[in-house]
Amino acid sequence: MPRSRGASEEPDAPLPASAHVLEVARSVLLCVAGEHRLVDPVTLSCGHSLCKTCLSTARRAPADTVEPSLADRAVAALGSAFVGASTDGCLCPVDSCRTGAVARPSLQPGKNPRVDIVLQKTLEHIRRAETADAPPESLAADLLGDLECHICATLLHRPLSLSCGHTFCTQCLARSLDHAPSCPLDRSTLPGAAWFQSHPKAIALSELIRRAYGATWAQREAADIRQRQHESSQAPLFICSLSMPTLPTSLHVFEPRYRLMMRRAMETDRQFGMLLPVRGGVNSHGCMLRIRQLQLLPDGRSLVNSVGMYRFRIRSLGQLDGYAVGDIERLDDQSLELEAQAEREAVEADPPRPSTAEMLAQCRAFILSVETNAPPMALRRIIQTFGEVPIEPTALVWYVAAILPIADTAKASLLEIDSPRQRLEIVTSWIKAVNDQAPSLLGCRMS
Ligand SMILES: [Zn+2]
Ligand SMILES: [Zn+2]
Ligand SMILES: [Zn+2]
Ligand SMILES: [Zn+2]
Repeated sequence: MPRSRGASEEPDAPLPASAHVLEVARSVLLCVAGEHRLVDPVTLSCGHSLCKTCLSTARRAPADTVEPSLADRAVAALGSAFVGASTDGCLCPVDSCRTGAVARPSLQPGKNPRVDIVLQKTLEHIRRAETADAPPESLAADLLGDLECHICATLLHRPLSLSCGHTFCTQCLARSLDHAPSCPLDRSTLPGAAWFQSHPKAIALSELIRRAYGATWAQREAADIRQRQHESSQAPLFICSLSMPTLPTSLHVFEPRYRLMMRRAMETDRQFGMLLPVRGGVNSHGCMLRIRQLQLLPDGRSLVNSVGMYRFRIRSLGQLDGYAVGDIERLDDQSLELEAQAEREAVEADPPRPSTAEMLAQCRAFILSVETNAPPMALRRIIQTFGEVPIEPTALVWYVAAILPIADTAKASLLEIDSPRQRLEIVTSWIKAVNDQAPSLLGCRMS
């Protein structure tokens, strides 16, 4: 049986003594319905394991447990409308699951859990070792071989046991669910990504791995941390549309690679870069977005509500698991002193150029004319997409740029400009062009 390895090529951690593995396994593989050794174990969605026969007893529950039908209804409701893993209905006999403040669903909707295959194999190893005079030397290595995830072929990491009896690393299962809501091994139907969000790991199995194989477990944890650091060393990039600082961007995420990207963003700093696709590639400048809210739909798609934070320039582009990542340089607006100097030069020029205050007044007049003249539907769409009109001048300029009927490729050029005043000059020139050339475009005209 191959030894479990971490993601790196470092040597395997030393194996524990078989006697130690046996001792830990005996203390961990207990039924939560009583302090006895598990027999034909099933693992519930709360992470607790109990004997299949004890599960039937728990189902013919005393008065203080919830009727199975109610529990089934509650978890079924969870499967179709995930709002956080919380339900009053619970079949697990463990007190914290039954009466805890955050009760957890114990059964996958509509499913009777099958025997937990990894636990069953572990129990067989233990039985064989116990019937021998002394635990066989190979016990530690043999059992370790059965504690591998079938997706990543390394030691199970935060193992999650499914009602079909199979167990996978939490992260491996999440990635599999991005593609199909079924078990990767037997294709049995699973409730989908939303149901598994913050799903508890298999408790007995996690304890066995951590305590019996401490060194290998620590190596696996370290590999996971390294992997996450690698993932976060480059900014995730969504190549989709034009986003601008201070403005909201709403997205419907359905492609598996972007589901993965959003999950990783939610697990770290909730940020990702947005880049406008242009002919032959992507725009060189983009906007960093922060996820304000992510509504995960039961089938794994999600509705993402984000807001623009800052402009950036791409230094280099790469790929990570199918989506774009990049080494980016954050761009900040130039200093107030430089802005004040530009303002002085403009108003003292011959002939004088408009002041910032005059140009902001043009922006406000434009907004007012849109509010007055645009059809109600168009106005509603603007507010739905970009929110209410901002008061802060920098944000107002981005807002006006966003609603002007100008090509996105032209608007994207604003992301390269460090001077708010210069952006304002460009935006007011667009207002003039729109009013001069197509006064009916938004049903508005500057007077
Ligand atoms: Zn039992
Ligand atoms: Zn439980
Ligand atoms: Zn795995
Ligand atoms: Zn399965």
